Amino acid sequence: MIGNSSINENISDGLTIKELFQNNDGLTYNDFIILPGYIDFSSENVSLTSKLTKTITIKTPFVSSPMDTVSESTMAIAMALNGGIGIIHHNCSIDYQISEVRRVKRYEQGFITDPLVLSPTNTVADIYAIKNSHGFSGIPVTENGKINSKLLGLITFRDIDFLNKDQWSTIPVSQVMTSIDDLITAKNDLTLKDAYTILQRSKKGKLPIIDSDGNLVSLIARTDLEKNRDYPLASKDSRRQLLCGAAVGTRKEDEKRLESLVQAGVDVIVLDSSQGNSIYQIDMIKHIKTNYPNLQIIAGNVVTQAQAKSLIDAGADALRVGMGSGSICITQEVMAVGRAQATAVYKVAEYAHQYDIPVIADGGVTCVGHIVKALTLGADCVMMGSLLAGTQEAPGEYFYHDGVRLKKYRGMGSLDAMNACKELSAASRYYSEADHIKVAQGVSGSVVDKGSVHRFIGGYLYTGIQKSLQDIGCQSLVQLHQQTNQGVIKVEKRTASAQVEGGVHNLHSFEKRLF
Ligand code: NAD
Ligand code: IMP
Repeated sequence: MIGNSSINENISDGLTIKELFQNNDGLTYNDFIILPGYIDFSSENVSLTSKLTKTITIKTPFVSSPMDTVSESTMAIAMALNGGIGIIHHNCSIDYQISEVRRVKRYEQGFITDPLVLSPTNTVADIYAIKNSHGFSGIPVTENGKINSKLLGLITFRDIDFLNKDQWSTIPVSQVMTSIDDLITAKNDLTLKDAYTILQRSKKGKLPIIDSDGNLVSLIARTDLEKNRDYPLASKDSRRQLLCGAAVGTRKEDEKRLESLVQAGVDVIVLDSSQGNSIYQIDMIKHIKTNYPNLQIIAGNVVTQAQAKSLIDAGADALRVGMGSGSICITQEVMAVGRAQATAVYKVAEYAHQYDIPVIADGGVTCVGHIVKALTLGADCVMMGSLLAGTQEAPGEYFYHDGVRLKKYRGMGSLDAMNACKELSAASRYYSEADHIKVAQGVSGSVVDKGSVHRFIGGYLYTGIQKSLQDIGCQSLVQLHQQTNQGVIKVEKRTASAQVEGGVHNLHSFEKRLF
């Protein structure tokens, strides 16, 4: 029983989670509220450690969705550093997807392994273009203008700021760069501490790292070292490399993609489907379990216990839950199939936990409160698309509309996303070869700038959930699930007017700043 049990002994107030769903209503996160518990601990001591799959445990329950406007390597690195995990999307060639997975697995804090590089024949105008689009200078110059090629020099703004604009497009980089003979470089066996000492002594902004043949292998930026911080919650494998997930489909040709992903070192595979209870997915699970018995599989999506049973019986190591609840989703409207997300999460978790299979609540999360509700209903982790698509780490450039800074965000079943992969064989996964009519299940839109994942996930969401769990009276996610099952956590349904009352109301105007 919770903290002040002696006071509450004979009090029966609110509904248990089981009672909330006993009428088989289709409830959303907004349809109920959690009643406060008893606080006898500090929010900083709340642990958010949770299971992602049968064998993978992470320290924060956050997963980025395998969508092409959400999860590539930059997002996956940031998610893993902050204790969660990113799932690299598959709306791309196999080569592209595995290079993204490799970037995450090879990530070493402080080392830029894919720096912008110029060739000697690039011009000064190219440097100004890079400065305008990326905001930095200090660019290595290699023989072929790519990484892993012989380092010839480094070009910084100081090398070119005396030149007139009309000279920019005619002067080659080779003429003005600091050449390799005058450059301070380091070999690729140095530690970050050594690099810091070298940069401090030399007063330089960038330190190119080369291999024994003089090829550029990475770059260290002084600014990165200065803002270098520890990530005590980082999700890592046994070799201390960041954890990384990747999505695949269930077509025969996806077996080749899978093989390449395994070779690239992927830790967990998401079988990416809106309706996972299919012979195709069951066959794929069996294929994986036969050929890669140690690879963890997140199967789905499912929203019913019958679907969950099929995939658990086939060998799933975790389930992804949600059909039609995503912010960009029109599945429920078009297909007339799906389930309200709170009910889906509760029902699937209730079944899956009997077999120790973790559940990931996927879609429809728009705020800290929704994450807490998903976790309270039994979710072990939460997958997010729209919440992350506006961060710096999401793919794509920011743009302005009506003075608001935005990024593009689209459903993977939108016509936009389907057309983007048309030239790839992956395109076939969206519609039958014989059928030239595509039926969209998602839309394409935009989301507002959320700044960096490090501040948004590592700061705001993490701290927000700790504080919310403190209000509920639970010191960990394990305790939250125990108290849900024991009927200790109490909730109540919200009428339409209760929802109005629970939001900001009756103000002439207000500004909603969250962190
Ligand atoms: P899918 O690959 O599961 O299905 C596409 C079509 O291909 C279906 O008709 C399916 O039956 C068929 N198919 C799959 N494997 C096959 C095989 N081996 N042989 C023959 N046919 C096969 O993908 P989807 O459900 O259309 O989803 C596409 C994308 O959109 C995914 O990224 C998914 O996450 C996203 N989406 C998600 C939701 C949701 O509510 N969570 C809804 C719609 C779309
Ligand atoms: P969000 O966090 O509410 O934006 O939802 C993200 C989730 O929506 C993803 O993780 C997918 O499960 C789902 N999704 C992705 N693309 C589509 C689509 O085109 N239609 C419907 N659902 C989608």
